[in-house]
Amino acid sequence: MNLLGRQLLRPAVAAAYRHGDRARLPVLMYHRVLERADPLQPGLIHAAQADAQFKVLSDLFTVLPLHEAADLLKQGRLPPRAISLTFDDGYRDNHDVAMPLLKRHGITATFYIATGFIDGGRMFHDSVIEGVRRLPSGQFALQGLGLPAFTISDDPSRRAAIGDIVKAIKYLEPAQRQTVCDELARAAGNNLPRDLMMTSDELAAMARSGMCIGGHTVQHPILQSVDEAVARDEIVANRAALTTIVGHPPRTFAYPNGKPRKDYSTSHVRMLREAGYEAAVSTAVGVSDRHADVFQLPRFVITESTYSTILFRLLRMSSVLTNDYTC
Ligand SMILES: [Zn+2]
Repeated sequence: MNLLGRQLLRPAVAAAYRHGDRARLPVLMYHRVLERADPLQPGLIHAAQADAQFKVLSDLFTVLPLHEAADLLKQGRLPPRAISLTFDDGYRDNHDVAMPLLKRHGITATFYIATGFIDGGRMFHDSVIEGVRRLPSGQFALQGLGLPAFTISDDPSRRAAIGDIVKAIKYLEPAQRQTVCDELARAAGNNLPRDLMMTSDELAAMARSGMCIGGHTVQHPILQSVDEAVARDEIVANRAALTTIVGHPPRTFAYPNGKPRKDYSTSHVRMLREAGYEAAVSTAVGVSDRHADVFQLPRFVITESTYSTILFRLLRMSSVLTNDYTC
């Protein structure tokens, strides 16, 4: 899009995302930013797409850390065209790929870290993806899940197997999930990667570079699916670990999986307040206004990768106001 086109779109963005007490806050949700596209993970963005998105955001929006945006939203003092970027889980490509791009565009983001997986760990869905990626072609059956045997041949069949297995184990207890992942790893030759997540040193370097670090529990349990005492321990231990690594306590939190009512409840919101958090993000889809509960800010994902489609998506989302839920 040429310079004139961008200048013409500026008023449209300003009208959609006003300031002060009529402001709406979009919060973008990212996970991994791959170096290049992966046929087994078509939903993930790669560096060129992220570069295009960050370009639009730095051109037309005021990018704020989540804690600052939440505070200004609550006070009715959000600047015009405010937006926040968030990255969940703590992937190493956030350090290697996303951070250099963010810096190039002069913007910052908040990174939510599940501390149980940094320094060589692997999240369960990555064990599924990387296990299925390495399965030899042929028939493959997992014990005890009630799933039919998979026929593994090409990328579409591997994608289908990944989707079915993740769906079948997502809400299991972490130990049960691990049993399935171990079985899959054995079938795949026990050589799954151990470098998908950041190290503590990389995390500390991100914080020193001006990126914000937020809480996301230790083992990434869906809080509703574990006892209250376990949920509290997960929140508190994660916060303590991040404080040690980064040198100061995290200010905001992202609920694992994050669906209001289904994945967390008001008692978890209370636990966050008691732990010292100032705001939190969910995975409800939409934007917030000043009446939002800053402990349940909705977010959305953008997958578009051209200047105009990214911008139109952001404009369209400005009307999806998602304040009205009680968990
Ligand atoms: Zn997560």
